Amino acid sequence: MGKKLKETIVFQINSKIPQLTKIRKAASVIKQGGVVAFPTETVYGLGADGLNAKACARIFLVKKRPANVPLILHVDGKEHLFDLTDKVPRETEELIDKFWPGPLTLVLHKSRIIPQIVTGGLNTVAVRMPDNLIALNLIKYAQTPIAAPSANLFGGHSPTCAQHVIDDLDGSVDIIIDGGKTNLGMESTVLDLTVKPFKILRPGGVLERDLKKILGKIKIADSTKKNKYRTNMSFSPSAKIIVVEKTKGQINKMQKLVLKLIKSEKKIGVIVTEENKNEFNNCLVKVMGPEKDLKTCALNLFSTLRSFDKEKIDIVIAQGIKRKDIGLVIMNRLQKVTNKNIK
Ligand code: AMP
Ligand code: MG
Repeated sequence: MGKKLKETIVFQINSKIPQLTKIRKAASVIKQGGVVAFPTETVYGLGADGLNAKACARIFLVKKRPANVPLILHVDGKEHLFDLTDKVPRETEELIDKFWPGPLTLVLHKSRIIPQIVTGGLNTVAVRMPDNLIALNLIKYAQTPIAAPSANLFGGHSPTCAQHVIDDLDGSVDIIIDGGKTNLGMESTVLDLTVKPFKILRPGGVLERDLKKILGKIKIADSTKKNKYRTNMSFSPSAKIIVVEKTKGQINKMQKLVLKLIKSEKKIGVIVTEENKNEFNNCLVKVMGPEKDLKTCALNLFSTLRSFDKEKIDIVIAQGIKRKDIGLVIMNRLQKVTNKNIK
């Protein structure tokens, strides 16, 4: 960050037994049109009163997020979905019974009470109920749905702990609630219920296979193509990222690439699974987790990528993962930040 614009207060709150006085204070800031960063089970969110257009405008300003990328509204009870939406398909109740609170965001026709700025001008709205006691109590005491994108500067990696938020937003938000590390480290699945068959716009914490058990056929948006919802918008973090796809000879291809790039006198990093950590020399090696435990890999992905930026690495070579279940989510996030895919 450059110059500090304001004093940001950091609250330490235990996410298992949250101190309600601090949460009430943060909620009153939200009510007055302020912005508060808070933990959810997926990543940290940058929250404002979702029914207050002016407050939501601050989110876009603080994040430097383009106005046409819509925000997700967070609610503290399943029933609130129906105040915010119109023409809800019958499958909705079963979905929220099974997956809420949790990392499933539903896109539905929006009701009139939602300001245009929240939906980036679209006539649909994205809603979810987070599975984190700090988030739920913050919404409860603010008595309003909280609009919240990830609490990072636009174009960067989503924050999975309060320090990431402090690094990006100290001095430009009112309060940062430090509730420890998030559980999943990946954002929610965004499911569009306004089209038939229903469509996953962004893979995330709730897996396709579990949605299929309830919905039968569903489509998945192509993560290599842009769409009007901006779910596949690409980013450009500081380090250039090259993904080497999971194919035969993958590690060998990565090793050759390291050797080639080192000659350009750039600082090279690789991000690999545990099993391959000893395969590389002359570069900074970071491990996302064991290949057998992709949940851990997903949890560590963003913080590991961020740490390359902190260490001023120029180029990161990432070990691609098989695009299945959590592997699909990891590859979707890598796809968004990559400059090049090597097959
Ligand atoms: P983030 O705020 O970074 O977690 O991203 C929220 C995601 O939800 C973005 O990828 C948006 O494109 C998507 N989203 C939010 N609102 C809508 C909507 N009304 N229709 C479709 N996608 C949406
Ligand atoms: Mg984000």
